[in-house]
Amino acid sequence: MIVFSYQRLTSYVLRLTSYVLRLTSYVLRLTSLSNFSLFIFYSAATISPMDQFSKDEKIRYARQTILPMIGEAGQLKLKNARILMIGAGGLGSSPAYYLAAAGVGTIGIADDDKVSLSNLHRQILHYTSDLDKPKVISAQEKLKSINPHVNIVTHQTRLTADNAQKLFADYDLILDGTDNLPSRYLINDACFFAKKHFIFGGVHQFEGQVSIFGTTGPCYRCIFREPPPPGEMPSCAEAGVIGVVPGILGLMQANEAIKWFCGIGDSLLGRLLIFDALAVRWRELKIKKDPDCPLCGTNPSIKTVTEYSWECVTADQSGEITVGELKQLRDKDPNLYLLDVREQNEWDIARIDGAKLKPLSSLEKNFEDIPKDKEVYCFCKAGGRSARAIAFLKSKGYSKLTNVKGGIGAWSKDIDPTIPSY
Ligand SMILES: [Zn+2]
Repeated sequence: MIVFSYQRLTSYVLRLTSYVLRLTSYVLRLTSLSNFSLFIFYSAATISPMDQFSKDEKIRYARQTILPMIGEAGQLKLKNARILMIGAGGLGSSPAYYLAAAGVGTIGIADDDKVSLSNLHRQILHYTSDLDKPKVISAQEKLKSINPHVNIVTHQTRLTADNAQKLFADYDLILDGTDNLPSRYLINDACFFAKKHFIFGGVHQFEGQVSIFGTTGPCYRCIFREPPPPGEMPSCAEAGVIGVVPGILGLMQANEAIKWFCGIGDSLLGRLLIFDALAVRWRELKIKKDPDCPLCGTNPSIKTVTEYSWECVTADQSGEITVGELKQLRDKDPNLYLLDVREQNEWDIARIDGAKLKPLSSLEKNFEDIPKDKEVYCFCKAGGRSARAIAFLKSKGYSKLTNVKGGIGAWSKDIDPTIPSY
């Protein structure tokens, strides 16, 4: 019995020792966790935004972080920002460089095109050695070279009604660098449904426009409800452009993006900025959300993303007149019949006094009071829609028809510069 008891006692002692050891282990672990938590808590309280940047980044961005309105907090906002650039062409080139250099953390680039020789005079993201290379790859190489700290995401695809919203979902802001109208309407509609804003830029010959559209302000359709017919498309090959104009407009877009991310300054939301490169003049139009807008209005007719296809058509060159010739004729006969076939919203921006407005979109129902016995001088913004209006009127038996070459754009430029050129 004594032996048995001794064995039991030994067993108890051993089990007790084991419990003590386990308890000590728990206490030690708890203490260590607690110290770690305190360490995390203390560190979080003392971390500054610049602690999230490497030494290289701190030096790289120093000249902008010393700006009080940007500072370290602004630089961190840029680092966390995600922008999607649609198009790596003429309009997309300059903002891509500057956004990467400024340290915008994630830059997505969507483009399905390859670099061609005729791109190089304006698409400065691409070099002669990049010919035939996908533009997104060429762009990625340049941007990584200028700033290896930014993440360049390539989307080698054409933006479509099917993929737009899905692409936009991963980004905070969209930059329209496409400079063609069907894409602009697609971006506008997809941004509206995805609840995103986009920085719009457009160029035509020696002019450009820039603004921001989105759900907290007007959308592009609040000003231009529908795209013009194909013949009017300003990005048709014959339009031409000088390289510095998309460069300048693209820089304005980059400026807006940086301000937007840092939350500083007055944005271009609700303002359309128009640049005239020849006169070297900026003008500004206040733009408002249109309650009758077919997309963002109170009773919208557009319920899904719309995709337009288009091709350039050549205007009939016969029966044309220059704005200079028209001016001479009007000086002799002030009652000359001048027919404006642009849309009402364009008329609200700019008009030629004495002209009659009959938008091409409703001309079929609204042409019968146009005189058949008098010469009709027809114009639009640039000459394409008026050519279509003339073709329509000819089909209705009209014969005294003259197209005004260059439309109200040429009139504003050459005859009456007080008329806004939009
Ligand atoms: Zn709208």
